[in-house]
Amino acid sequence: MLEDKDRIFTNLYGLQDPGLEAAKKRGAWNGTGEFMALGDDWIVDQIKASGLRGRGGAGFPTGLKWSFMPREVGDRPHYLVVNADESEPGTCKDRDLMRHDPHLLVEGCLIASFAMRANACYIYLRGEYIDERVALQKAIDEAYAAGLVGKNACGSGYDFDVYVHQGAGAYICGEETALLESLEGKKGQPRLKPPFPANAGLYGCPTTVNNVESIAVTPTILRRGAGWFSSFGRAGNAGTKVFCISGHVNTPCNVEEEMSIPLKTLIEKHAGGVIGGWDNLKAIIPGGSSVPCLPRDICDDVLMDFDALKEHKSGLGTAAVIVMDQSTDMVRAITRLAYFYKHESCGQCTPCREGTGWMWRVLNRMCEGKAEMAEIDMLLDVSQEIEGHTICALGDAAAWPVQGLIRHFRHEIEDKITSYRAGKSVHAVAAE
Ligand code: SF4
Repeated sequence: MLEDKDRIFTNLYGLQDPGLEAAKKRGAWNGTGEFMALGDDWIVDQIKASGLRGRGGAGFPTGLKWSFMPREVGDRPHYLVVNADESEPGTCKDRDLMRHDPHLLVEGCLIASFAMRANACYIYLRGEYIDERVALQKAIDEAYAAGLVGKNACGSGYDFDVYVHQGAGAYICGEETALLESLEGKKGQPRLKPPFPANAGLYGCPTTVNNVESIAVTPTILRRGAGWFSSFGRAGNAGTKVFCISGHVNTPCNVEEEMSIPLKTLIEKHAGGVIGGWDNLKAIIPGGSSVPCLPRDICDDVLMDFDALKEHKSGLGTAAVIVMDQSTDMVRAITRLAYFYKHESCGQCTPCREGTGWMWRVLNRMCEGKAEMAEIDMLLDVSQEIEGHTICALGDAAAWPVQGLIRHFRHEIEDKITSYRAGKSVHAVAAE
């Protein structure tokens, strides 16, 4: 369990003032210019040594990603783009970081941009995050007024500008290349890769896209040391992490904890336990709606980190834990998620555009039991045809929940079909 003295986000719950003076008292902007004086390579090495992996879902090593940027700035400017388009169902951590601790993010933007020789940073904010935009802009204005960003940022001789750009509220704009398209003023549709953003990103220039939490933790890593950060969690899964716990728990919350904490401990210590007790647990979705669900027997002792969840054919994703108790109709729950991905598909590639709608329609029938037993395997087959065969990861995100349902709760689909055939009434899901 993480001790209070080791928390990075000490104002996660907004109990203190998010403004500059209060943020400084909590440690923000402390020694920033001195870290920059140690050089960009030193900063990248520290982040690599800390073991930080991206907090937006994919878990790619952050320091390594930064090192993909060209060593020298040539004809084209470099950009850092912060992905604040937090839209994954169940995920609500970045909004609290931006509302209550925005200076850690602004300071992180400066440090990361300096490390990658970026000329400017854009924070791409989810369209619905109005309060967050106000809070973030206030922090940026304060930082400009105090000389912390802008010309000669923190007295480092480095000129740095940071802008907030608000999207229009499309889930797909959380995909990094769709985000860049949207930032350029175009329709938010993912690009084919390669080229990757480090070579040709925003306006065709070298760009790195990082999640809010990944950037916001970097100043504290430099202040407290890479060794301190990597002392939390198992090897390859270092650091602290903000978990979002929702669903059938007594006290849903966001909480910063150490990586690799047992799921049961996380829920019982911070979310007041499962409603009706641990034995009333049916399943969890451990990393936002796009990862496969896990049944109770795996939940008993699974650890919350990238590798442990991957071993169970799920994923840490955004670390948004959605808890479902015994009252949950699993088929109906996953059908609702299938509708979300169908709705959010940008329509560029056929397996995703057609497949997400097809899966939702079949699942919708299955909710009522109006399906053939053979369609369960057909559904699995179609989900596997979508997975890995699309331009972006939304195809995978749509397929994985369906695969998790069939892997662990096939019997619930079979029961519905059997009951329908026997003439029993089956709970129906309303068509959207
Ligand atoms: Fe668009 Fe879906 Fe293809 Fe992604 S996978 S590019 S969301 S159609």
